[in-house]
Amino acid sequence: MVYSDVFLRHEPGPGHPECPERLKVMLSELERSNLLSSGACELIEPRAATKEELELLHDADYVRWVRDFCSLGGGVMDLGDTVASPSSYEAAIHAVGAVIQATDLVLEGRYKAAFALVRPPGHHAGRDYARGFCIFNNVAIGAQHLLSRRGLKRVAIIDIDAHHGNGTQEFFYETDQVLYVSLHQDPTWFPGTGFEDEVGTLDGRGFTVNVPLPFLTGDDVYLRAVEELVEPIVRQYEPEFVLASVGFDVHYADPVARLGLSMLGQLRAFSAIARLARDCCSGRLVAVLEGGYSLTHIGKMFAADLALLAGQDYELVDEETRTPARLRRKAEEVLRSVRHIQSEFWQL
Ligand SMILES: [Zn+2]
Repeated sequence: MVYSDVFLRHEPGPGHPECPERLKVMLSELERSNLLSSGACELIEPRAATKEELELLHDADYVRWVRDFCSLGGGVMDLGDTVASPSSYEAAIHAVGAVIQATDLVLEGRYKAAFALVRPPGHHAGRDYARGFCIFNNVAIGAQHLLSRRGLKRVAIIDIDAHHGNGTQEFFYETDQVLYVSLHQDPTWFPGTGFEDEVGTLDGRGFTVNVPLPFLTGDDVYLRAVEELVEPIVRQYEPEFVLASVGFDVHYADPVARLGLSMLGQLRAFSAIARLARDCCSGRLVAVLEGGYSLTHIGKMFAADLALLAGQDYELVDEETRTPARLRRKAEEVLRSVRHIQSEFWQL
């Protein structure tokens, strides 16, 4: 687990759901469950990303603007609700550094897998913009680092946050070196991208896979999408490394997102990703924290995911959920539509 207290110093302000308490509840659940003290999992302090690393994907002008904006006191960074405080730049460059470091540690074989427990999140951030609580795109820079500096040719990013990772998709829309697969809630009002017919362009055609599920989709349909669409596509892609954008906002009690997964459903989706990494690339997996705002649930989901990577037992109690009957047909229609569209590129 790659984590630093510097992530607590990114403070969007009172009442903001993307708050430092998110990480505090995750850490206290780790403590309660003895995951760190058992030695099954180690804590690594990340370094800050360098300017060159940030500029692997972000414009130099944007990086400079974020630094200056924070040093002048911060404020609202976009038209919505991405807010920076004076220490946000420091936190954000360590979040990127944490993902890069995690990928290196796993690639060098020092650890089988890693979880980068970071704030601010990243998957909505683009080349020159902050969005959706995200400042720099942590997971995307991790992928680009593996391609341009470690010589990998095929990296899969599997995004199981409740929202579409518009920034991540945008960065890799024209390349076949990154397979971006995202399961998310109906993206119509936010972020406005992530529909099933967005499949990539030029060399990237067929290497973007979007599964936009109706609000309230439960474990049943979500896990079928994982099994019937995500798993076969990722296996056929044969990635050399798997990155996962993990958002715990898929849970039915999340105050920001609108999906209907249980904690068990989230764990099953995450374990499918771990299995794919094991089968395709000797387990090489780096999970990166994105969203998740229900302070009573995210600690448990995080501990369960981490325990799975560490091969430890962890008891997770929740009720499995089913998609409400009135929405099931619509949800299944989405799976059919994605299958139809992606069949042009993959055997499904
Ligand atoms: Zn989210």
